[in-house]
Amino acid sequence: MIPKIELASTEEIKAFQEKKLREMLLYLKEKSPFYQERFAQHNIDISSVQTLEDLHPIPVTTKTDLQLRNKDFFCVPMSEIIDYSTTSGTLGKPVSFGLTDNDLGRLAYNEAISLACTGIQKGDVVQLMTTIDRRFVAGLAYFLGLRKLGAGVIRIGAGTPQLQWDAIFENKPKYLIAVPSFLLKMLEYAEKNNIDYNQSGVEGVVCIGESLRNQDFSNSILADKILSKWNITLYSTYASTEMCTAFTECEYQNGGHHHPELIIIEVLDEQNNPVKNGEAGELTITTLGVEAMPLLRFKTGDMVQVFSGKCLCGRNTQRVGPVLGRKEQMIKYKGTTIYPPAIYDLLKFFEQIQLYVIELYTNETGNDDILIKIVSTDTSHNFLNQVKAYLQSKLRVTPKVEFANREDLNQIVFNPKNRKPMYLVDRREK
Ligand SMILES: [Zn+2]
Repeated sequence: MIPKIELASTEEIKAFQEKKLREMLLYLKEKSPFYQERFAQHNIDISSVQTLEDLHPIPVTTKTDLQLRNKDFFCVPMSEIIDYSTTSGTLGKPVSFGLTDNDLGRLAYNEAISLACTGIQKGDVVQLMTTIDRRFVAGLAYFLGLRKLGAGVIRIGAGTPQLQWDAIFENKPKYLIAVPSFLLKMLEYAEKNNIDYNQSGVEGVVCIGESLRNQDFSNSILADKILSKWNITLYSTYASTEMCTAFTECEYQNGGHHHPELIIIEVLDEQNNPVKNGEAGELTITTLGVEAMPLLRFKTGDMVQVFSGKCLCGRNTQRVGPVLGRKEQMIKYKGTTIYPPAIYDLLKFFEQIQLYVIELYTNETGNDDILIKIVSTDTSHNFLNQVKAYLQSKLRVTPKVEFANREDLNQIVFNPKNRKPMYLVDRREK
């Protein structure tokens, strides 16, 4: 199930996106209170925007815009909204997102062509191990996409390892959709309870939330740990509520495929200029075909590299590399740029480390500093030195590492106010 446009030439794909872009701008001009005002304030004549390059003079949209002007982004009356989703805002309060009936259709199509990259097809059974409620878009998108593909869905959600294994052995899913570090918990549980997971029939897992790859597409420590035990294939998928579009790896695992019918992507630097080909920058998106809350040049905050060139799977679309981290979480540390997810992955190397929090603060010299607090089964001085030496060899800098007690860290990581676990505390002076 590869859309024809994804097999077309680079020029054809560009022309196709430009036509869609012109339609999108007309729609915003007619329907969006926020963008009507933007176009007027900045004297933007949308008829002058004919190519992707012409997007450049249009100001970017930020998460703060979404937060402050939430209602003005809606292009349809609330009576047209079917699904009420939310996404995290920058100023604490979540941002409301609405999807119309057509948006849900678009979301289903998006997820169907996206999951098809992994090889999932009609008749396959897939166990969905992420939550479908709590106003998350992701779980809903997977369900709708699988339905559109004609695949069977076991909606377990975020259940215990036992619940997951029971459903796996009962229904024999070929694929799972899961958070990868939870797979490690499942394997640990299986080993303790004599569950032979290599006889489970699972062939592949579509992974969300954590990176499976390093920047050169080699496996992360997390991916290697899973694969060293379990004979399966892991596929990375990346999406967000604002994008309403997913980027999923194909079997060649060299970045999540871009779907030109659904979204325009740019990679921008701090000054909102495009980065040089292949360099890392902030993923900036323009949604195509979205009815309720279309976004124009929205800066996602996710730092990525984008790759082009025909993929071995036949698709000629761009590929989004592993997300390095959030732009605001970038750490400038002794001349090196580090993103917290790279540290999370390194800490997974140690079986002894059960929980961790990374604290960022501004030191006496006014520079960024890193303190890593860990809960460990080994609390010896020797182990602490091992962790430090390992981090130094991989990061080329030595952050401070100290032991902490489990209750303290639990409160930070699993704060009920947050929808997701929080492993980072950023105390830096801005
Ligand atoms: Zn491919």
